[in-house]
Amino acid sequence: MTTRAIIATRNPGKLRELRGIFARTAFQITDLTEAGVTEADDEDSIESWETFEENALAKAQYFYRRTGLPTFADDSGLAVDVLGGRPGVRSKRYSGRADLTGKSLDAANNATLLGQLRRMNALPATASFICAAAYVDGDRAVVRTGTTAGLIVPQPRGFSGFGYDPHFVSQELQQTFGEASDEDKERIGHRGRAFRSLLEVLSGENA
Ligand code: IMP
Repeated sequence: MTTRAIIATRNPGKLRELRGIFARTAFQITDLTEAGVTEADDEDSIESWETFEENALAKAQYFYRRTGLPTFADDSGLAVDVLGGRPGVRSKRYSGRADLTGKSLDAANNATLLGQLRRMNALPATASFICAAAYVDGDRAVVRTGTTAGLIVPQPRGFSGFGYDPHFVSQELQQTFGEASDEDKERIGHRGRAFRSLLEVLSGENA
């Protein structure tokens, strides 16, 4: 039996990965546009907490309230060791540019991060991607995290993925997430790890 569920993201890069991750599961996922959930002014303020877990749960709860459907959400970001874990939960808006979206926002964030690391003479810099994956329905609110380690490098490599991907050399793949195949990023990436762990908990509870 399949269960219809919402994937609460408006980020096309995340959505693409999540469709791959959910392809062989018991959930038939629908994105916010397909579900007719129009963008509201208060959406950007949902993720104002200090941890990925709190933000992911807040996002899932918010869209569960708006749709009444079981909802999955992801809050994720990059933690650079020499920056004490920043940009962290501020990864999406690290450049401070509230006027940008999509690829221009990614380019501004990368420029801010690399400028900072260059000034500190800290490149290449060890870092991790972190993802908190949350699920909310009428009975349950569950969150699980996944991480993946790597190195931030000055020169971008590859054209896949989104965000900081072209500057992140995965420790396990020895290539950037911009160069990695979809399958490899899904297998060893923070998002794949978090959602597989979440789905394991949910299927255990259903058993
Ligand atoms: P949020 O989860 O919507 O708050 O945004 C997460 C931000 O972290 C994105 O806009 C990216 O800048 C960054 N990020 C999260 N996951 C990834 C990833 O898989 N690759 C590259 N950047 C990511």
